[in-house]
Amino acid sequence: MSNYDIVIIGAGLGGLLCANILAKEGMSVCVIEKNKKPGGSIQSFVKDKAIFNTGLNYTEGLGDGEVLNRYFKYFNILDKIKIKQMDVDGFERISFEGDITEYPIAQGYDNFVEKLSAHFPAERNKLKMYIQKMRTVCNSFPFYTFSNLDEINSKTDFFNLSAHDYVSNLTSNPKLNNILAGMSSLYAGDKENTPMYVHSLINYTFIGSAWRFVDGGSQLAARISDEIKKHGGDILLNQEVVQIGGNKQADFVELKNGEKIFAKQFISNVHPKITLNLVNKNISKAAFKARIDSLDNSIGMFSMYIVLNENQFPYLNYNHHHFNAVNTWTTDYNEKEWPEHYMLYTPPNSQSEKWANALIIITYMKYDEVKKWAHTFVEQRGDEYLDFKRRKAEKLLDFVEKKFPQLRTKIRSYYSSTPLTYRDYTNTHEGSAYGIIKKFHDPISTIIKPKTRIRNLYFTGQNLNMHGVLGVSIGAALTCAELVGSQYLFNKIKNS
Ligand SMILES: Cc1cc2nc3c(=O)[nH]c(=O)nc-3n(C[C@H](O)[C@H](O)[C@H](O)COP(=O)(O)OP(=O)(O)OC[C@H]3O[C@@H](n4cnc5c(N)ncnc54)[C@H](O)[C@@H]3O)c2cc1C
Repeated sequence: MSNYDIVIIGAGLGGLLCANILAKEGMSVCVIEKNKKPGGSIQSFVKDKAIFNTGLNYTEGLGDGEVLNRYFKYFNILDKIKIKQMDVDGFERISFEGDITEYPIAQGYDNFVEKLSAHFPAERNKLKMYIQKMRTVCNSFPFYTFSNLDEINSKTDFFNLSAHDYVSNLTSNPKLNNILAGMSSLYAGDKENTPMYVHSLINYTFIGSAWRFVDGGSQLAARISDEIKKHGGDILLNQEVVQIGGNKQADFVELKNGEKIFAKQFISNVHPKITLNLVNKNISKAAFKARIDSLDNSIGMFSMYIVLNENQFPYLNYNHHHFNAVNTWTTDYNEKEWPEHYMLYTPPNSQSEKWANALIIITYMKYDEVKKWAHTFVEQRGDEYLDFKRRKAEKLLDFVEKKFPQLRTKIRSYYSSTPLTYRDYTNTHEGSAYGIIKKFHDPISTIIKPKTRIRNLYFTGQNLNMHGVLGVSIGAALTCAELVGSQYLFNKIKNS
């Protein structure tokens, strides 16, 4: 019978990082993952020798002294990953149908203002104000800025500030206001809900610096796994947890093969709603479950993974966000108008700096569009689903070819995924890309805390604090802080 200090359900980024922290603290740790490989959404895969990312294109804050740099140093992985800084003068290019200009989002706060002011000279001061506003918001999150740990409790007024309302009223130029929200697909920005703090934490740190993983995001999961094993932790792959059982508290998890693994404390990296479905009735808390069940989730994505012909499409050291109109808030799209936006990027490969061998195009897709196949599983969904995906892919390519003419002639083959793909691979609720939506008009109930109502069960992962590599890294620290002490862990990371 296995018995650990800590059992972690799910080896996504959140689960792996918690294991890394707690194994380093001398605890006996076991991470249990249902898939063959660790990583969840940061996994990459290979088709025709080209490497594709599923949910990790780029990350932020890896420059010297920046926030993720400190976390990665503390995790002891910074010098073990192959990364590449994106184009400093425009790591994002925003464009609109009917306007040939590609508006740059540059790295470095002064550079950002400079590069956008070149297109909107009258708005220079407003752009400075925008950066200052985001800085103020970010400074209230000590685990981002390593400011005083008590700050978060005293400055909460911005929790109720709407990202859309703030950004849309910032300048008198609607195009510029929409450009500032041009990266909104990074957080599924939605007019009705997204708080300004979500927009700020993401945009401000990416403008600080933006980085890609050379040869795929899986290396991140592999290097964290190495660290876990180095500190004596176990990672069980291909083992699905089907129950969290116990008497007055969680005592064990049961695997699909019937095996039970016991521990003193449990952390779930699985979506909170799905986690609570796993909890045995003896220890379940009905009111807590009802609250979590009632929360809304972000929209999912339709992704195209394109293998390119050799030496025909250049490697672009930036992401391209293109919109069919001057409206960058497109989660609530009209199906007839779909796609209203896409994000296109070329993952870097170590074979060539000049040419891309892979191209990824991502756009929103509502779960309702694929709901009729909800009872099916990966690669067994039938011809009607395959036909649906093909039609969607061709429609998306028609739109992309308006900006990148003749793209189809450069394609060797392509593959696609829908929210159902993410649902089945990672168990995210209805294939939601970023999990539980944070709401500016209801901040308290949409911010999920690590502590659950079940005494020794904790949450981690993108549903807590924030999604993304940075958000999930900080989320893992917040979860582990519950077990080892907040100030203690904070100081360790700060001093790394
Ligand atoms: C299309 C897309 C693009 C993205 N691009 C970026 C980007 O460029 N940069 C960025 O920073 N972020 C990006 N993200 C977000 C980022 O990928 C996620 O926020 C992050 O990877 C989530 O990590 P997690 O640990 O919370 O969850 P997950 O990755 O979902 O991990 C959960 C894990 O739990 C496992 N699991 C589930 N149920 C069970 C069970 N019953 N038993 C055992 N194991 C189980 C799953 O298999 C999975 O491995 C993107 C996301 C999407 C969808």
